[in-house]
Amino acid sequence: MSFRSFMDQALDAATAAAARGEVPVGAVIVDPAGQVVAVAGNRTREICDPTGHAEILAIRAACAAAGSERLVGYDLYVTLEPCAMCAAAIAAARIGRLYYGASDPKSGGVAQGARVFSHPQSHHCPEIYDGIAAAEAEAMLKAFFAQRRG
Ligand SMILES: [Zn+2]
Repeated sequence: MSFRSFMDQALDAATAAAARGEVPVGAVIVDPAGQVVAVAGNRTREICDPTGHAEILAIRAACAAAGSERLVGYDLYVTLEPCAMCAAAIAAARIGRLYYGASDPKSGGVAQGARVFSHPQSHHCPEIYDGIAAAEAEAMLKAFFAQRRG
């Protein structure tokens, strides 16, 4: 039950997303007891929904399982830096810790861009750990986009 193993599950979800033709991003949510309660990959194309990011889908599933709109004390692992939309959802859900892999200079909203959690309007700031298995997540994204251009 190492912390690395949860990011491995997120990477598996990202791989599965790529196989569906989606941008390879995967997310895992772990409850305060250390149990995985949600695993999701991007499904924006499949469900025709621009909000169908891995983090949003995982948060929806975890909240449904918890019967609550808040996930206090839960951890979220995601292979790519969350965008502003997902960061806002993470704040709204009161997620305790955010672990992410690759940074996202184009759409990231945590360490760059909107920097949602540093914004005075942010309701909540999780503990943030970046760069977890970043090389694998980045390689997967690069391969995916190289293939689409090819
Ligand atoms: Zn997002």
